[in-house]
Amino acid sequence: MDGALNENDISHVVEADRAHVWHHLIQHKPFETTDPRIIIEGKGMRVWDQKGKEHLDAVSGGVWTVNVGYGRESIAKAVYDQLIKLNYFAGSAGSIPGALFSEKLLDKMPGMSRVYYCNSGSEANEKAFKMVRQIAHKRYGGKKHKILYRHRDYHGTTISCLSAGGQEERNAQYGPYTPGFIEVPHCLEYRAQPDFTGGNYGEWAANQIEEVILREGPDTVGALCLEPVTAGGGVITPPEGYWERVQEICKKYDILLHIDEVVCGVGRTGVWFGYQNYGVKPDMVTMAKGVASGYAAIACLVTTEEVFEMFKDDASDPMNYFRDISTFGGCTAGPAAALENMRIIEDENLLDNTLAMGERMMGNLHALAEKHAVIGDVRGKGLFCGAELVASRDTREPADEKKVQAVVGDCMAQGVVIGATNRSVPGYNNTLCFSPALIATADDIDQITDAVDQALGRVFG
Ligand code: PMP
Repeated sequence: MDGALNENDISHVVEADRAHVWHHLIQHKPFETTDPRIIIEGKGMRVWDQKGKEHLDAVSGGVWTVNVGYGRESIAKAVYDQLIKLNYFAGSAGSIPGALFSEKLLDKMPGMSRVYYCNSGSEANEKAFKMVRQIAHKRYGGKKHKILYRHRDYHGTTISCLSAGGQEERNAQYGPYTPGFIEVPHCLEYRAQPDFTGGNYGEWAANQIEEVILREGPDTVGALCLEPVTAGGGVITPPEGYWERVQEICKKYDILLHIDEVVCGVGRTGVWFGYQNYGVKPDMVTMAKGVASGYAAIACLVTTEEVFEMFKDDASDPMNYFRDISTFGGCTAGPAAALENMRIIEDENLLDNTLAMGERMMGNLHALAEKHAVIGDVRGKGLFCGAELVASRDTREPADEKKVQAVVGDCMAQGVVIGATNRSVPGYNNTLCFSPALIATADDIDQITDAVDQALGRVFG
């Protein structure tokens, strides 16, 4: 680690952090007595904490974000150069990186046509929800306003995103929720619903969505919002036949398909966007984390020309435009970083690396499953993998959450940061999650799974 802080500096930072920072997603009372961790520096796949300890990051910054790895000087330089030239201008004026990144992004998304900039995954999803509601008002007298979301999916932290969230533990205590969001069942084959009686689970699971549409009334349903591969809800890869049927259903009932690529987007699954694995044609796509790998805050809502046209078809109506703004959607650092991030993925062939390393990780996880009966199911696409832990393979009863967290803690002690589903679906916080940067090498992957091997041995015996 370069330029290590001295003892005094470090204790000052630790004290300031403890005294003043309200951290995300933790219980602060127990946190007060745990060893604090301040991450000081990162390079490639690794970060260093305030004690100089090295950590191999298998979760790309904790929440599957830093797709091109840490310490990318060319991104920092692109952002610096842009900020010196022009940091910000909002509203209807364009910017050089905003225009150029849109062009480059759409080049990776055949069939899509317009890019709307904002700051976070939640915000991008909110904007998509607003578009659906406005289209309902403009075209259907307000009737086709309902938005379907899936059990175990997550779409963000605002009240409307929580209303579209299928993770009860995240949602609890934040009601009342926004009306008009309706849940459809999940598609996790390993935990197929009890009324599934056999046949193709993918088609069956998609047909459950159709049942909800018919129950609600197709003329009331405006959109279906899904993650291509469910992330925090348990790394749920879709079963065979699922997406084909989902697409057919949306078409049949004139329902907009909104795909949340906040995690899968920009290479994570070995193709640019997760939906492209399944031949799906979305109407709206939202993305955030990997767009600029965390070097700047940026999120995008991308739509087809058909959706865009719906907002400009009658210029004589003064209300007929998307009446929305995002103050920091005018920041130029985001698209400047995103442009360079995408160039790196292309020039370093990181999609190919993701496919190769994803295969290696899946192979290693399957090998671990041979050795550790606690692994009930292994799932993944590209460098986005999960291992679901169970108390018994026969009953598939989920492993004790505390033990799952103990595995994460043991890996951390070994200098490998992995994740686990947490505070999502009650009883099912039992999936270990792996989403290393797309630059991972075979040695990195092996180091990650070796650490898990040892941790499972120690925690589960
Ligand atoms: N969608 C998905 C699938 C996510 O995983 C997340 C964040 N974990 C979000 C949306 C929300 O993104 P943000 O935290 O940037 O608001």
